[in-house]
This record gives sequence, C-alpha cells and structure tokens, in this order.
Amino acid sequence: MSDKYDVIVIGAGPAGYVCAIKAAQLGLKTACIEKWKNAEGKGVNGGTCLNVGCIPSKALLDSSYKYHDIDHGLKKHGIAVKELGLDVPAMIQRKADIVKQLTNGISGLFKANGVTSLFGKGKLLAGKKVEYTDNDGNVKTLEAEHVVIATGSIPINIPVSPVDNETIIDSTGALELQAVPERLGVIGAGVIGLELGSVWNRLGSKVILLEALPDFLAMMDKGIAREAQKILTKQGLEIRLSCRVTGSKVMDNGGKKEVLVTYQDKEGKEQQVTFDKLIVCVGRRPYTEGLLAPDCGVNTDERGFIYVNDNCATNAPGVWAVGDVVRGPMLAHKGSEEGVMVAERIAGHKTQMNYDIIPNVIYTHPEVASVGKTEEQLKQAGEPYKAGSFPFVASGRALAADEGEGMVKMIAHAETDRILGCHIVGPSAADLVQQAAIAMEFGSSAEDIGMMVFGHPTLSEAVHEAALAVNNHAIHIPNKRKK
Ligand code: FAD
Ligand code: AMP
Repeated sequence: MSDKYDVIVIGAGPAGYVCAIKAAQLGLKTACIEKWKNAEGKGVNGGTCLNVGCIPSKALLDSSYKYHDIDHGLKKHGIAVKELGLDVPAMIQRKADIVKQLTNGISGLFKANGVTSLFGKGKLLAGKKVEYTDNDGNVKTLEAEHVVIATGSIPINIPVSPVDNETIIDSTGALELQAVPERLGVIGAGVIGLELGSVWNRLGSKVILLEALPDFLAMMDKGIAREAQKILTKQGLEIRLSCRVTGSKVMDNGGKKEVLVTYQDKEGKEQQVTFDKLIVCVGRRPYTEGLLAPDCGVNTDERGFIYVNDNCATNAPGVWAVGDVVRGPMLAHKGSEEGVMVAERIAGHKTQMNYDIIPNVIYTHPEVASVGKTEEQLKQAGEPYKAGSFPFVASGRALAADEGEGMVKMIAHAETDRILGCHIVGPSAADLVQQAAIAMEFGSSAEDIGMMVFGHPTLSEAVHEAALAVNNHAIHIPNKRKK
C-alpha cells in the first residue's frame, strides 16, 4: 500500500479515533497512528479515555458503589447481608478486562471502516508529512493531504508533590491500587479528584481532599456545588478548601512508606497531615512532546495548547487539531465531536460545532451534571434570567429508589423563556442533563418542556417540574409567590 493518505490522524483517543472512523466513512483514505502500549507492551488504541480515564474510572466507581451500597444501603430495604468480602485485585482485574474489550473494539471498528491502524509514534514535519516510528524503531515518512493532531493530554505534575508511582501517585496509579489505603490524601478537589476519592472512600479509606481554591467546584453553579459538597461530606469525604499544598515528604515508618504533606490553610497557617497514599489530581496539560518539527508551521499558545480557530484548523494549511490538545474543556465527547467536525470539513462540508452546549459530569454518587450557563455566569454577563428548581425528595421515583438527595435547576432567559442552562446534582444526573442539552440544541423554551408529557414515575419528571418551576407552574412543589 502506498504511504500517501488523504488523512493521517496522530493519536487514537476519543478525538482521534472518532475522526479517523468518520473520515474513512466519508470515503477518505485514512491512517491513524497511536503510540500507547498496554501492560504487555502491545500497541492499543483508545487513548486516555479508554485506557486510564473515563472508562476505567467508571468501572471502579460502579464496583465500589455496589460494595458500599451492600454494606450501608440495604438494611432499610429489609435486606440483610451476612458476610461481605472485598477482593481489590479482582475489582481491578474486572476494570482491566473492560478496558481490553473496548480498546480491542476500536481496532475492530478501524478494520470495519477501512482505517489503517499504525502503532508507534507520529511526528509532524513540514509540508503535511508525518514521520512514523513503529514500535520496533523503524522510521518511515508518510504523506497526507490533511493531518489531524489528536495527541491529548497528560496529568500535571507539581514540584511540591512529585509522583513516585508508589506513595505519591497520579490518576493512572489510583486506578491500579491493589489494596485499600487506610489514609488517602487527594490534592485537588476537581472532577478527577472527587471521582477517585469517592472510589477509595467507599472501599474504606479515610479520604482527605486538599483544594487550593476557596470555593468548592468553582466552575459549577453555586447552588448545585453547595448541595454536592453537603452530600459528599456526609458520605465521609473530608474536603478542605483554601488549602494549598506546599510540600510532601515520603518517609519510612517501620518498613511501611507514608507521606507527610504540608499545606497552608485558609488562615495562612502551615499544617501537616500524613497519608499512606497521596493522589495528585491538579489537572491535565496538553501533550505535544516530540510531536512538532521546528519547521512544521503549527503554533502553540502560552499554555502549550495547539492554536486552532473555531473549526479546529491550525495556522498550517491542511493541519488540524482536536481534543484535549486544543482549547476548551478536556472532555472525551468534546474531542469526539471536534473529530467529526474536522473529518466532515476535510470532506468539503461546512460543519460547525456548538461549543455552548457541552454537558459536563462528575460521576460521584449522586452524579453532578451541568450544561449551558450558570446563574453566576449570567449575572456577570448582565443577562436577564429566571430559574426554577425541583428537589429529588419530591420525586416519587427517586424516593422509591432511595435516591432522594439533590435537585434539578433549570435556567431560562427572562424575556424569551429560552433555556440557557441546566444543573443537576442527583440520581442519573448525567443522563437527565442530556435531556436539557437536546432541548437547548433545538432552541426550546422552558414552557416547551413544561408542555411535554413525561412518563411516570421517572426521574426525568424532575426535569419537567424544574422547567415548570421556571415560570412558577410546578405541580409537585410550592411555587414562588407572585409579587
Ligand atoms: P487522549 O485520550 O489523551 O488520546 C491521545 C492519544 O494520542 C493517546 O493515546 C496518546 O498515546 C496518543 N499520542 C500522543 N502523542 C502521540 C504521538 N506523537 N504519536 C502517536 N500517538 C500519540 N472525560 C469525559 O468526558 N468523561 C469522563 O468521565 C472522564 N473521566 C476521566 C477520568 C480520568 C481518571 C481521566 C484521567 C480523564 C477523564 N476524562 C473524562 C477526560 C478524557 O479522558 C479526555 O478528555 C479524553 O481522553 C481526551 O481525548 P483525546 O483524544 O483528545 O486525547
Ligand atoms: P481539575 O482542574 O478539575 O482537574 O482540578 C484540579 C484542582 O487542583 C483545581 O481545583 C486546583 O485548584 C487544585 N490545585 C492545584 N494545585 C494545588 C495545590 N498545590 N494544592 C491544592 N490544590 C491544588
């Protein structure tokens, strides 16, 4: 086969593999280069999302939730469990099996769609050429009409807590622990820190999260963040805000390693706390190591993201970039949609992506999910809005399922009634928020949702009632009194 392609994608995470499949579906001769190797040293597709991100974290969240629920949640249902055991290595193995099944699935999809899958490293050269080094070290130069960079991101390492992959670990290490640490520290109470902290808290660790910012989930709607903080604290997660970690020292305590963490508390006082394991979850940064030849013509911004316009075109003609390696939220689905958009634009379509409607989820229990604008953002922008909320404690379906915590908040424009945002903490929030996202995409008003028929009893009735509450028409909670 000739080494000239219509499209070469570098990186087979959710942004890159989706782009490659779509390009091939559109009749373009496509190759996708991926350098990830599994534990056996074999090339695998799927990127961070499938190997060490979305999927393995959800596998452990679900396993740990089952364990915790059997131990704590069944008694009131009249169910007694005599003996409960925990086999952490088996739990980790189940996660690994799911990862294997899904990453193999991507290779299957590549085959089915005619994408040439190349394992090894890609480097962008000038003139839309790509240097490809396979996993045996053989080097080849490939040519393409279009190159798509989808090299993703890696965890940020902070000098005050350098990851040693033993006592101080990152999110990848936290998905591989073979035993439950008695005392677990997490630096960063962001999305990943809360999810991984929840896994090990449910399995029995005493978890303390140290967060530098004064506000919990600062980017979320304040009311929802406050409710989430209350619920998670009740579950045993100790969230210490305004606490900036300034140092960590790994020590030997009678043959057992532990880590002494120093941090500055909200009064500016130095505090110390000792953990058996410490997870560093302070965010991720774009990954472009060894990727760009000096004369390839692609620019990066001051934070290392590849510079792109609204359509993901870089400043080098015929070179595009998608996913975590470019601006915007670091979310798998954001990258995948960018991948689709770029493939379609390469094929000559005028596809555009709606960056205003990208759902965002934290997979704690209950889940925290949001789409669109928060009240705080609208206030700051001086946009007139009205909001309606509905608590799950008033939902029959939620109570039947013993899931009465949390609420749905719907926000609409004060004059047009068009839905501007939806924020949920509660059962199945990830799936419920998508209903609002679909409505927003179709330009729906709160009244439109209010007029729809929702099945009973369902959790989605809470979305219906929150939309009704926007205009004080809720049925199952008292409405705000008219002034
Ligand atoms: P990646 O998935 O990082 O893939 C990039 C690929 O490019 C990698 O496979 C890498 O090996 C390859 N690559 C890099 N350089 C080269 C090169 N030079 N040559 C060849 N290949 C190269 N997001 C969600 O939306 N939902 C979640 O629930 C969620 N949970 C997460 C949980 C955790 C613990 C973590 C760490 C992340 C989570 N994310 C989640 C974020 C999500 O994983 C990322 O947003 C997503 O994987 C980004 O996709 P991507 O394709 O841009 O990059
Ligand atoms: P996210 O960006 O959602 O992954 O969250 C990362 C979190 O880590 C942010 O809320 C940061 O404020 C927090 N963070 C970064 N550095 C530190 C530090 N040295 N100590 C405590 N928290 C930190």
